[in-house]
Amino acid sequence: MADVVSPIDGRVLTHIAPASPAEVDAAVREARAAQPAWARRTGSDRSRILHAVADLIEARIDELAETETRNTGKILSDTRREAIRAANSFRYYAGWAEQVRGETIPVGPEYHTYTVPEPHGVVAGVIPWNVPFFFAVKKIAPALAFGNACVLKPAEETPLTALRLAGLLAEAGVPDGLVRVLPGGRETGVALVSHPDVDLIVFTGHHDTGKAIARSAAANLTPVALELGGKSPQVLFPDADLDQAVDAVVLGVFASCGQMCIAGSRLVLHESIYDDVLDRVAERVRALRVGDPFDAETDLGPQITAVQRDKTAAFIAESSGVGRLVAQATLPDTERLRNGFYVAPTVFDRLDDNARLLREEVFGPVLAVSSFRDDADALRLANDTEFGLAAGIWTADIARAHRFAGQVRAGTVWINTYRVMSDLVPFGGVGLSGYGRENGTEAARLYLRSKSVWTSLTGGTPQGYGMGGAGAAG
Ligand code: NAD
Repeated sequence: MADVVSPIDGRVLTHIAPASPAEVDAAVREARAAQPAWARRTGSDRSRILHAVADLIEARIDELAETETRNTGKILSDTRREAIRAANSFRYYAGWAEQVRGETIPVGPEYHTYTVPEPHGVVAGVIPWNVPFFFAVKKIAPALAFGNACVLKPAEETPLTALRLAGLLAEAGVPDGLVRVLPGGRETGVALVSHPDVDLIVFTGHHDTGKAIARSAAANLTPVALELGGKSPQVLFPDADLDQAVDAVVLGVFASCGQMCIAGSRLVLHESIYDDVLDRVAERVRALRVGDPFDAETDLGPQITAVQRDKTAAFIAESSGVGRLVAQATLPDTERLRNGFYVAPTVFDRLDDNARLLREEVFGPVLAVSSFRDDADALRLANDTEFGLAAGIWTADIARAHRFAGQVRAGTVWINTYRVMSDLVPFGGVGLSGYGRENGTEAARLYLRSKSVWTSLTGGTPQGYGMGGAGAAG
């Protein structure tokens, strides 16, 4: 049995048995058995069931958000928003279920040629602890819409809302065995992603885990999409709306206590606005209220685990030795929260280019600030990272913004905004941030594979012993 702990006060919420490799095997087999009948259903039938799931989620937003907040420590307004977005995602993919289509390809008068998009079969989803309910939905909803089965492993720290989702899926009429949520940690994850009967792996998490999964997927030639971490820059030019920019910088790195893959953890400031913007950011940071995520006045809750808190604290201690501590918020000082995993949001500058804080993902509320002289310098700093998940640019010069967007190495670029996302817009990274794209038409490409069907209209077949080609028919 594994303890499920609330990071708010360190209290054990419940105990959950991790799924054993034998249980993983049984779940994959059941999913494989259930999938063909699901794929044969009409798109509108699948769509109806996905809408029913959305209805059930919408009727339980408060319950889901409260469970999520208790288990993750994220503030209640955020977990409410995520639950609402999760319901919307089911509706979005319910729409897709009725829109799947292939194409006819007129290769010439001798053949009738068309493509059929087919589901892969069994999708294995593995997700981290930072957005447990929404990420569970982001894997399961498209898998189902496009006719797949799904076996999902949530993070061992945060299984509660994903398990609740499994109950709602059954209630909505998702057939037995088609979706399984298997709690557990690394051992359960390894058993799932290395299972030879898994047809597609969709993973969100750390890049080291992503590499391990890609290696084990290679042994079975299982296709895999990896949504990994980031060290994303926000670049501010002097002509930007600095009020808006400062707001986005603070929210962009400190929301969810810094536990966001898209955290804008590097602030890159033009030298002419450096002191002014740094002062404004520092003032905002000192005023951040860290504490009980159920309290409506709280800006940031705790980190997810003592391990994560200690990792962030180590970054802060180490950076104090190699950079300048610009600002730090205060920690809650109440008896009730004494055993929670709180970390003070902190800002550093004057770091050496090779400082770990500029290079590695903290996944905690720590911002590193540096300055640039001109556009080329800004781009150099923005791209000075092995990651490539997101980047923000703030400027009134539209040409400069689009030049930057074209040249920055990142899967998403935000111009005069940050952190906005939609089911409709592809999302994913480059470099250490992974490969593969989720959302929108990219989800259809990920969760479906194309079959090409050729029919001879003349009864002919390509002649000769080389590669056959259309037009080579005898
Ligand atoms: P993690 O990689 O340690 O764990 C993620 C999941 O993988 C967990 O469910 C874990 O049990 C499982 N796992 C661990 N080892 C495994 C293995 N060898 N085989 C199969 N499964 C295994 O990540 P984490 O610490 O839980 O989450 C934080 C990381 O996730 C950060 O790097 C963050 O940037 C990243 N993240 C990325 C995105 C994105 O969309 N790009 C979103 C959120 C978080």
